[in-house]
Amino acid sequence: MTPGLAAVRAGKSPGRVMQSCDVLIVGGGPAGSSCAWRLTQAGLDVLLLDRRSFPRDKVCGGWITPQVLQELQLDPVAYGADRVLQPITGFRAGLMGAAPVQTNYSAPVSYGLRRFEFDHFLLERSAARLCLGTGVQGLRRAGQEWIINEEIRAPLVVGAGGHFCPVARLLGARLQGEGVVAAQEMEFPLNPQQQEACSIDPAIPELYFCPDLKGYGWGFRKQNFLNLGLGRLGNQGLSRHVATFFDFLKAEGKIPADIPPRLHGHAYLLRGYTPRNLIGEGMLLVGDAAGLAYSQSGEGIRPAIESGLLAAKAILEAGGRYSRENLESYRTLMDGRFGRPRKHWTVNVARCIPERILASVGGALLGAPWFSKHVLLERWFLHLHQPALSIG
Ligand SMILES: Cc1cc2nc3c(=O)[nH]c(=O)nc-3n(C[C@H](O)[C@H](O)[C@H](O)COP(=O)(O)OP(=O)(O)OC[C@H]3O[C@@H](n4cnc5c(N)ncnc54)[C@H](O)[C@@H]3O)c2cc1C
Repeated sequence: MTPGLAAVRAGKSPGRVMQSCDVLIVGGGPAGSSCAWRLTQAGLDVLLLDRRSFPRDKVCGGWITPQVLQELQLDPVAYGADRVLQPITGFRAGLMGAAPVQTNYSAPVSYGLRRFEFDHFLLERSAARLCLGTGVQGLRRAGQEWIINEEIRAPLVVGAGGHFCPVARLLGARLQGEGVVAAQEMEFPLNPQQQEACSIDPAIPELYFCPDLKGYGWGFRKQNFLNLGLGRLGNQGLSRHVATFFDFLKAEGKIPADIPPRLHGHAYLLRGYTPRNLIGEGMLLVGDAAGLAYSQSGEGIRPAIESGLLAAKAILEAGGRYSRENLESYRTLMDGRFGRPRKHWTVNVARCIPERILASVGGALLGAPWFSKHVLLERWFLHLHQPALSIG
């Protein structure tokens, strides 16, 4: 851990003395750190608490679109100078077991990064006071304030603690239910023999959909790191789907036979299925805590960052008065950006079609180059129609 990210930065240790801050953020992933970044820029005293020490691993593919870099005002050359930032200029995508369609671009349409580095970078840059290695043990209301762990008092708490965020649970979030993706992933550095045996082009990640179209697996090489994983709606049979996928990649000669045995799992909610309550008295939810990942791609980093930035805007507009009514502007900003939460039309269409027919229609579409490029990639994955969020 870098000295700058010791248990508490700039301020007293939250030992016995009660500390106060303008805003307490629970969770130091991209949602929490983006929100903190904006708030500290505006002069607020932000305390960010995370149960993990940083840098920390996060179960994730680490794929982002260029809009994310723009929103964070990150120069890819500067960021990538001493961190992994893999430019992506194409994709191979298809149904598992069928030949994929390759789509190429003349410039980067995405990047691959390591969450271990990215989240640490954003957290340090946020300039928030950090309280790391400490989870939320208690959260209670006292007058117009929240008391956290009997050690910190804050008029506003931002829940950015991911799918299982304690702030989200206080606001009634359900952890299971429709729209929850369960995923398993591994990321490891390739040794020279494994590099030889890996035929995945770093500039061209590979995506393979499950035959029932309820999820997809990926093989994603980021410079010398290989990231493999699979995510699906619901967690039934997840390990079996993952094993089948890895066997398929090995049989195709895509990945080395000796990949590490250890997988990491996590869950998160796609937006539109089981909407979470975004706002409470002196409380807001951002990122996975709010259940915002794009429903077609499962991309969650961009909505996490955008919600963090929009929450900061709403917080600043509220001017220190954080009643539920005063925070309603956050919901308006979110609906304006993402639309009102509702299921993607394809979910309702898919429900009316028997599984066998769905698989064959899905397979035919995924095998069609125009669909793969214009619908799957450019509309559902790259969101080319949605420019980067710009907050003046
Ligand atoms: C296998 C997998 C692959 C994925 N691949 C991609 C991808 O390639 N691209 C993409 O855009 N999205 C991807 N996602 C989704 C993406 O990882 C999330 O949407 C994103 O990390 C959400 O960011 P966040 O800041 O809301 O939450 P997180 O990044 O989960 O951060 C939450 C933070 O809160 C902390 N925390 C949790 N509980 C507590 C507590 N009780 N007290 C204090 N702190 C707490 C955690 O330690 C963590 O640091 C993937 C998800 C999975 C599971």
